[in-house]
Amino acid sequence: MSARILATDLDRTLLPNGTVAPEPGALNRFREWATGRGRSQLVYVTGRHRSLGRDAVDEYELPEPDWWICNVGTEIYSRGSTDPFPPWVDALSGGFQPDRIRAWAQAYLDGAKLQEREKQSSLKVSFYVDPSWATPEAEGRLQKALADEGLEARVIASQDETEGVGLVDFLAPGAGKARALAFLREHGQIPPERTVFAGDSGNDADALLSGVCGILVGNATWEVREGLRRALADHPEAHIYFASRPYTAGILEGLAHYGWLDADR
Ligand SMILES: [Mg+2]
Repeated sequence: MSARILATDLDRTLLPNGTVAPEPGALNRFREWATGRGRSQLVYVTGRHRSLGRDAVDEYELPEPDWWICNVGTEIYSRGSTDPFPPWVDALSGGFQPDRIRAWAQAYLDGAKLQEREKQSSLKVSFYVDPSWATPEAEGRLQKALADEGLEARVIASQDETEGVGLVDFLAPGAGKARALAFLREHGQIPPERTVFAGDSGNDADALLSGVCGILVGNATWEVREGLRRALADHPEAHIYFASRPYTAGILEGLAHYGWLDADR
């Protein structure tokens, strides 16, 4: 049997840490599947930094993955390694000039403050900003101003509502969950039809629509579900299974739909 990939988002997809009640026993069934997964590779795809991802593995006693995709697809780690996977670093670093972006953004973004050192990398420059900068409109303006300056990056603006502060990330232009997953597939020569990706939110949309076997878990909001149903019309190559069960139980429901729960692996 040839190799395949099960990639999953962590928060509110594999981890039952949303507002919907989880199904008892589902994580245990997933652990059993992972223990006997044979040549299937397990990939955790998360917006978290690697150390926060590791905290989740410890807290929920998750199986060790074969690969991590962290920090919004800017970093890939192989099992047991604490250094980012060099081929992905090489693939992303072309055209990205973190020093110039840092200097430009500090002058352009009034009152911007660099985030802590552990939130920066050679592929990501991150600031705390006034919340007025963290809107979709401001994000668009920032992206344009950056391009006018001849600098390449993907701008992602968001709010940290608990701290009342805006966050602006400048990512290497080729970064993202879907692209990092495609990179791992190509690395392992695994076709999209032998790759499953499970997610729950708008951040997962690009990977769910990328042509792999997608699973949207049942705790996804109505807005996310309807947004994906509409987006499917423009992505004829995409497959998404809309699970009715939440979190891990939804992943297992999707795996059964794609025929992955047989003895055959
Ligand atoms: Mg999530």
